[in-house]
Amino acid sequence: MPTKYVVVLGSLLSGLGKGIVTASLAKLLSMHGLNAMPLKFDGYLNYDCGTMNPFRHGEVFVLDDKSEVDMDFGTYERFLNTSLKGEFSLTGGKIFSAMIEMERRGDFLGNDVQFVPHVAEYIIGYLKGVAARNRLDVLLIEVGGTVGDIENGYFIEAMRELALRERVIFVNLTYVPELGAVGEQKTKPTQIALRNMMQFGIQPSFIICRSENALSEAARNKVALFANVDESAVIDDQNSGNIYRMPLHLMEQGLDSMVMKSLGLKPKADGRSFERRAASWGALCDAIDRKGPKVDIAIVGKYTQLHDAYASVKEAIVHAAGKNMVSAEVHWIDSEMLEKSADSIPRLLDGMDGMIVPGGFGKRGIEGMISAISYARTKRIPYLGLCLGMQLMAVEFARNVCGLWGANSAEFDSDTKHRIVDILPGQEAVTAKGGTMRLGLWTSRIEKGTMAYAAYKSENVSERHRHRYEINNAYRETLTKAGIVVSAVNADRGLVEMLEWRGSFGIGTQAHPELESRLEMPNPLFISFIRAAKKRAAAR
Ligand code: GLN
Repeated sequence: MPTKYVVVLGSLLSGLGKGIVTASLAKLLSMHGLNAMPLKFDGYLNYDCGTMNPFRHGEVFVLDDKSEVDMDFGTYERFLNTSLKGEFSLTGGKIFSAMIEMERRGDFLGNDVQFVPHVAEYIIGYLKGVAARNRLDVLLIEVGGTVGDIENGYFIEAMRELALRERVIFVNLTYVPELGAVGEQKTKPTQIALRNMMQFGIQPSFIICRSENALSEAARNKVALFANVDESAVIDDQNSGNIYRMPLHLMEQGLDSMVMKSLGLKPKADGRSFERRAASWGALCDAIDRKGPKVDIAIVGKYTQLHDAYASVKEAIVHAAGKNMVSAEVHWIDSEMLEKSADSIPRLLDGMDGMIVPGGFGKRGIEGMISAISYARTKRIPYLGLCLGMQLMAVEFARNVCGLWGANSAEFDSDTKHRIVDILPGQEAVTAKGGTMRLGLWTSRIEKGTMAYAAYKSENVSERHRHRYEINNAYRETLTKAGIVVSAVNADRGLVEMLEWRGSFGIGTQAHPELESRLEMPNPLFISFIRAAKKRAAAR
C-alpha cells in the first residue's frame, strides 16, 4: 500500500502546539498498529538548528545520528517513544543547498530553475524517499510557521501538488479567541485564515481549534460552515495542563478513526490491543497528574526566561516525577542574577530538594552556576549536572576542594593556569560552526558500585552528546584523589563521561540524558535524581 500523507498547517499564530497535535495524531495511528512518523518542515534558511540561539528559538534537539533539529522533535520522540532520524527534518536551508548543487552539476541544463516545478518536485521526491525508506503507512508533515508566511509558501504549494497525486489530507490548527468581557468565542479570525488557505488551493479536512475553554457549539458550527466540513471534523483543543492527554482528547472526538477513513486506511492492530495501549497511556497521564508529595527542583541556567530553551529537561523531570509518584515544581533561577547578590544563593536554594545545571555555551552566568554547585555540594542538595553542568562540577571541585585557585574551563578563560575543562582533541582546528561538535549517540562504560551504575543498572550506556569541551585528563588524578568519582568513561577515547560526589547525591554527565527521556521510558538518571530529591523532601 502506498504511503498516505497528513499535512498539519497552522493559521493565525505560531505557538499553538502544532508539534503536540502532530505527535498526538502519530501516536494514535501507531497505537492502531500503523507505521506513522512525523516529518517537520522549517522554512528558515539555516541548514539545521545547530547554529541558532536557544534563547530565540528554543532548545536545539539532538538525534542519535548527530542531527541538530527543532525542539518539536523532542515532542515527537517523547510521545512516540522512538528515535527519529535527521532525514525527518527538512529545512529551507537543506532544500536550497540541494537545489544549488543540482543546478551547478547541470541537472537542469537549459532551463531556468523555478519554484514550480523544480523546487516543488524536489520536495515531493524528498518526502516520497523518506516514506519509502522507512516503509511508512502514514507520513505526517508538520509545516513550521503559519499559512501566509513568505518562508513556507513554496512548501505549501508542493503539498497542494502532492495532494493531486497521492492520498493527502490537510489538518489545520487554528486559534479561537474569547473576548474577556463577553466570554464569546470568536471565529472571524479563523474564517479569514481559512479563506487565505483556500486561496493557496488547500482545503483542510479537519480543523483543530485551540481555545481557552471548551469549543462552544456555536463556534463549532460556524467554523464547519466556513471550512466546508462536517461539524464532527471541527475538533476541540482547549487549554489543558497536561500535554500528554492530547492523543486521548483527540481520540474521544474520533479524530483517529476519521483520519483513517479519509485516507482509506484500516487499523493493523485489533481493537483490544488499541484499547490496551490507550489505557496504559492514560495511566501514565494519571501518574504525572497525581498530586503526590511535592519536590522543589531548581534549574540554574542563563536562558531561564525562556523555558523552551530547557524543554527536554523540564519534560524529563515530569516523567521521572510520575515514576517516583511525586509532583515536581520547577524553580527557574537565572545564574547571572546569583552573581549580583551574595545572599541570593541561600535565599533561593535553601528550600530546594534538588538542583540541575543544564547545558549551555558562553561565559555569561558561569560564576553564578559554580557558586550554586558549591552550595549544593556543601549543603548536600541532590545535584544533576548536564553537560556544562558536569564540566562546572569539576571546576567547582578543583577550586574549592583541590585548592586550584582560578581553575576554569578553557571555554571561559583561555589563560587560566588550571584548564580543568579543555577543548576536545581535534576541535582546535575546527573553524566552521555548523554540525562540528561532538554530536549524537556515544557509548560510555560505567563503573560498578557507583551512583551512575545504580541508576542505569548497566555497564554500557549510550546517550546523546553535543559539546566541544571535555574534562582535562591531566587533572583526573588530582580530582579523584581529592574525592570526586569518575563513574563513566568513553572507552575508545578515554574521555570522562560522568562524575559524582561521594556521600551525597551528585552526578554530572557529559551527555544530555534529558533528550532520551520519554513518558513511557523515563531516563534512569532523572529517576534517581528525583528519588534523591523525594528523600530530601521527606526528611525536611
Ligand atoms: N559549552 C560546553 C561545551 O561545548 C558544554 C556544552 C553543552 O552543555 N551542551 O563543551
